Amino acid sequence: MKRQKSNRQLLWEEATGHCIYCGHPVKPEEMEVDHIEPLSLGGSNGMENKVCSCSHCNAAKGNQTLEEFLGSMSPKERKRYSNRVNTLVEQGKMDWEKADVLDPYTKQNWDSDWDSEEDTDSLAEEGGLASILINVSLGNLYALWQRKRKRRKI
Ligand SMILES: [Zn+2]
Repeated sequence: MKRQKSNRQLLWEEATGHCIYCGHPVKPEEMEVDHIEPLSLGGSNGMENKVCSCSHCNAAKGNQTLEEFLGSMSPKERKRYSNRVNTLVEQGKMDWEKADVLDPYTKQNWDSDWDSEEDTDSLAEEGGLASILINVSLGNLYALWQRKRKRRKI
């Protein structure tokens, strides 16, 4: 019988065995589960609010909000953190929704991409369903490209 993966294991794999905040490798038995938005501040206890963290970062973050904790990083650390989250999404390890929560810059980019939704709709009316599908996947590619591009500017 195949054993089901534990939530800890899933979170460890999602972060490819590294602390999401500082990027140091963590062994499965040493990893700590960090609540992105602390439970004490009303954060959820669901998987969408949990990440793989090293003990140092988990302790340093404490009861701070994610925003406060990211604000305490140096610009270099902050940039590496953004790149780390971005890479996990590109590798298909982490879903967009969690990445958007973890990296507020990403969220801004993502929201602004959807401002162009109107254009997609008018094109879709002309071309039918196939065109909708093509436009949606092109939209995703464009978003990915834009993320990369914006990140380089930081
Ligand atoms: Zn760490």
